[in-house]
Amino acid sequence: MTHPHCSESAEPSVRPVKLISESKDVSDDRCSRQSVVSSCDSQSNFPPDPITQSHINDVIRRFAAACHPSNFEEGGCSVCGQLCLLSSLSPLGNIRNMLSVLEVDGVTRLPCSSVTEPVREQMGPVLDTTCNDMVCTPCRSSIRQGKVPCYALCNGLWLGNVPPELQGLTFYERLLVSRVQHSKCFVRVQRGKVKGEHSKLVANVVAYENPTPKIYN
Ligand SMILES: [Zn+2]
Repeated sequence: MTHPHCSESAEPSVRPVKLISESKDVSDDRCSRQSVVSSCDSQSNFPPDPITQSHINDVIRRFAAACHPSNFEEGGCSVCGQLCLLSSLSPLGNIRNMLSVLEVDGVTRLPCSSVTEPVREQMGPVLDTTCNDMVCTPCRSSIRQGKVPCYALCNGLWLGNVPPELQGLTFYERLLVSRVQHSKCFVRVQRGKVKGEHSKLVANVVAYENPTPKIYN
């Protein structure tokens, strides 16, 4: 099998760099291989030297650093309640004196043990107390600027502790306990192909308005 490179090797080499790159695609081209070896001797050594122990240690060290738990472990933010990387969380105590922007009335509710017990609210800033007093970077920067974070619980997103009876519900159970639910039953009677024969389709549709209207007590 002849290759155009063989005929080109007899001519004066005008662009030796291009000849080297083209020869990588042809393994049995001796003419190009000789020109590659002669050209590469002065540029790099092939085969390369065996890997050194310091290089192995460096690869292992970087792999261990990338697999550190802080790179994938998550924790909750006390201000917005969202899960974030532990490396992006900081103690809430650093901004303890600036939490007055999170004090909003009419957002929280304390559990009532009887019907006659008055409705009470949670005192102080609206925080998730189960997040070990940590705050994420976006919430911390907003509070430092004196602004309420966009996804803060005090923006009407506070739910409180979910009772055990409402944890782990199925999709249909969540539909049953939702506060707003639009349900409609459709019955369609269709005439069949055979004269005098009819078929009936009954379906139940649960539809929600989007956006859901604000709910008042
Ligand atoms: Zn947050």
